[in-house]
Amino acid sequence: MTNLFDLSGKTAIVTGANTGLGQAIAVALAGAGAGIVAVGRSAMNETERLCRDAGAAFSVVQADLSSLEPIDRIVADGAGIGERIDILVNNAGIIRRADAIDFTEKDWDDVMNVNLKSTFFLSQTVARRMLADGHGGKIINIASLLSFQGGIRIPSYTASKSGLAGLTRLLACEWAGKGINVNAIAPGYFVTNNTEALRSDPKRSSEILNRIPAGRWGEPSDLGGAAVFLASSAADYVHGVVLPVDGGWLAR
Ligand code: NAD
Repeated sequence: MTNLFDLSGKTAIVTGANTGLGQAIAVALAGAGAGIVAVGRSAMNETERLCRDAGAAFSVVQADLSSLEPIDRIVADGAGIGERIDILVNNAGIIRRADAIDFTEKDWDDVMNVNLKSTFFLSQTVARRMLADGHGGKIINIASLLSFQGGIRIPSYTASKSGLAGLTRLLACEWAGKGINVNAIAPGYFVTNNTEALRSDPKRSSEILNRIPAGRWGEPSDLGGAAVFLASSAADYVHGVVLPVDGGWLAR
């Protein structure tokens, strides 16, 4: 039987692949056979070693996604290691914490620019390329539980991730018929830089842990299977879903 999850010969762009969830997703896609184009501001040495150990081709595009400046370059360079771009994972994201009553315009704009604006325009540019190549592709957005819930003290993050869920559905509606699958993964509470402030607050940390049915925070590697699934032909008829990988948080 054909391996539905085999990504051999595919090229995947993963933004924010130097650490955390982006790194784990890059390594999982590499393990399934994809070549990885790692996009971000920081050194990718550890991700490169892990992906090459998995036998994958690997290249890096240095890019700061707080503006649209690098978008064309990412897509031009991204097609370098394979003939085409088959998979895009929009993982890069930031969070700013402050009470809504005090929240600044800068903390609003900074988060929206990376989490939503750059994600949309990178998806648009990659999709144009996929359509021109005529092979379709897979776009995976990294959403959040804040795509479903309100949260506290993170107004721009919640707005961006709720917006990303809507954008995932809109792009799926427009591009499903053209062979591009657009879906999202909503990670629960994972052990990464993004949640450092929560984990170092004993009260918030134990409140969160006590509400997770699985009884533990997620490890970045917990996300790999969902990413491989949505990137693979196993998900060819899956469009516009926001798939929670949350230890059961939303089921509670
Ligand atoms: P992280 O802070 O470790 O990783 C964020 C990544 O985004 C890093 O690679 C960083 O370099 C990159 N990035 C940030 N700003 C950038 C910019 N301007 N240009 C290029 N790259 C930039 O945190 P993480 O938890 O691995 O976050 C990855 C994604 O997962 C984010 O979109 C985050 O919102 C989402 N997420 C995380 C959790 C969690 O519990 N950790 C939960 C839900 C969603």
